[in-house]
Amino acid sequence: MKPSPKYIFVTGGVVSGIGKGVTCASIGRILKARRFEVSIMKLDPYINVDPGTMSPAQHGEVFVTIDGAETDLDLGHYERFIDVPLTRASNVTSGQVYEEVIKRERRGDFLGGTIQVIPHVTDGIKRHVKRLGEESEADVVIVEVGGTVGDIEGLPFLEALRQLRREIGPENVMYVHLTFLVHIGATGELKTKPTQHSVATLRGIGILPDILACRTDFPFQPGTREKLALFCDVEDEAVIPLESVDNIYAVPLFLEEAGLGRIITRKLSLPERPVDLRSWQRLIDRMTDATRPLDIALVGKYVHAADAYISVEQAIRHAGINNGQRPNIRWIDSERLDASNIDAVLAGVDGIVVPGGFGPRGIEGKVEAGRYARVNNIPYLGLCLGLQTAVIEFARNVLHLESANSIEFDAETGDPVIWPMPDHYGAIDMGGTMRLGEQPCLLTPGTRAAAAYGVDLVNERHRHRMEFNNDYRERMTAAGMELSGINPDKDLVEIIELHDHPWFVAVQFHPEFTSRPDAPHPLFDGFVKAATARSDSDAPGVEIARQSSVS
Ligand code: GLN
Repeated sequence: MKPSPKYIFVTGGVVSGIGKGVTCASIGRILKARRFEVSIMKLDPYINVDPGTMSPAQHGEVFVTIDGAETDLDLGHYERFIDVPLTRASNVTSGQVYEEVIKRERRGDFLGGTIQVIPHVTDGIKRHVKRLGEESEADVVIVEVGGTVGDIEGLPFLEALRQLRREIGPENVMYVHLTFLVHIGATGELKTKPTQHSVATLRGIGILPDILACRTDFPFQPGTREKLALFCDVEDEAVIPLESVDNIYAVPLFLEEAGLGRIITRKLSLPERPVDLRSWQRLIDRMTDATRPLDIALVGKYVHAADAYISVEQAIRHAGINNGQRPNIRWIDSERLDASNIDAVLAGVDGIVVPGGFGPRGIEGKVEAGRYARVNNIPYLGLCLGLQTAVIEFARNVLHLESANSIEFDAETGDPVIWPMPDHYGAIDMGGTMRLGEQPCLLTPGTRAAAAYGVDLVNERHRHRMEFNNDYRERMTAAGMELSGINPDKDLVEIIELHDHPWFVAVQFHPEFTSRPDAPHPLFDGFVKAATARSDSDAPGVEIARQSSVS
């Protein structure tokens, strides 16, 4: 039997949004480079049971695991950096823990007892953390706490992590605190005081960080390290500078170079092993070398929100690396796109992606983007909603079913080409009532999708309520649409593509979640290859695209 795992607890200080998810993912990568098995989880202090009901404008993308959990986007970083398929065990929220505790209270499990944050909620949190350690067979479990030290809702989580050190044994636990060093423009000074306060707050809770990872936009100055070490009571070498970089995938290399892997190994008494980051280094080199610009339009309604389409963006970039391209993503607001401006807005693009989404806002712009791609032979990749809008467009403009729509956007439409999935019909809860998680898809031989995958059967992750309406199959296929992927269990259309088009492929699932920097998803790869071919050809407007990607 494997010995019980070691734990690395990662907290954040000073400000949010300084890359805690990427840092945790990078720690995982440098441990994996020493052949340690790694598992990883995110503790999210908000009260929502999961982020599935949150607006991407507020919370960014919702990442879906193989078992269908709707989770924090940091799990996407974890999967991309560490290349482990995660499950619902890797994202725990306050909402989940409270829901469990309250259910047990109602059931009478605590009869006579007063239910309190300590011990009941903290016990719930600890149970989740330990369960992942037991079930994953990992050597090291990395646990990221969302938010910033000092947040009221984060306190039960920090208390639980403090208690775990006693329970699991101090030799098996370490704390990493990711902080931000403030730079004063007028004097050019890098200030450590906010970090000192943040660590003081952490120590007040009973957690003494072993490592300070210091995100900074400027290099350490003479004395920065020593000052932080002295005031925050960590060893000099455990103060790790983490200068901002353009390429997030380079972070593992910087952390390793700064000695983080060595310190973690020593503090957790893990066996010393050679570090092999050669393939990761090669990946970074290939990224640096991939400089040919490719103009890709991403047409969505959350294009102004940070990270709303982060996995889609990353998947496009991964396919770019594989083809020596540096995609320049044009973020197009679908609410503002219509027939009158589309020529100007999409002039010169090499490819168009329509990602997932919910609700009627901005739909017509996405439908129009599909039409534009179809009639102008521009490579198109539709993801979930991007399949549904492409089907609506085809029905309206090729089959001449003018009122064709999805039931989601027009409940009264005479031609519901997209409709609710049969077994979810009538579902009223908004949370967790979708087709979620990995589902099989049988590929139709001879199609572009089948050629791209190179296999007969694939499993892909879903998150949607609506489906292609099978009543329209015959009419669509007779008019030139190919059904290139079918769910064999439920006879649902999972992939469509168009004959007589360089690459018009749309999928009911989310291939973006399984793309890796060193292994792009086959459909993104196929799309980028088609876009590259268009960019290399004399397609009108290619020059304009080149110019805009340089600026
Ligand atoms: N809103 C659509 C549905 O529920 C598409 C969902 C998505 O794009 N993830 O089916």
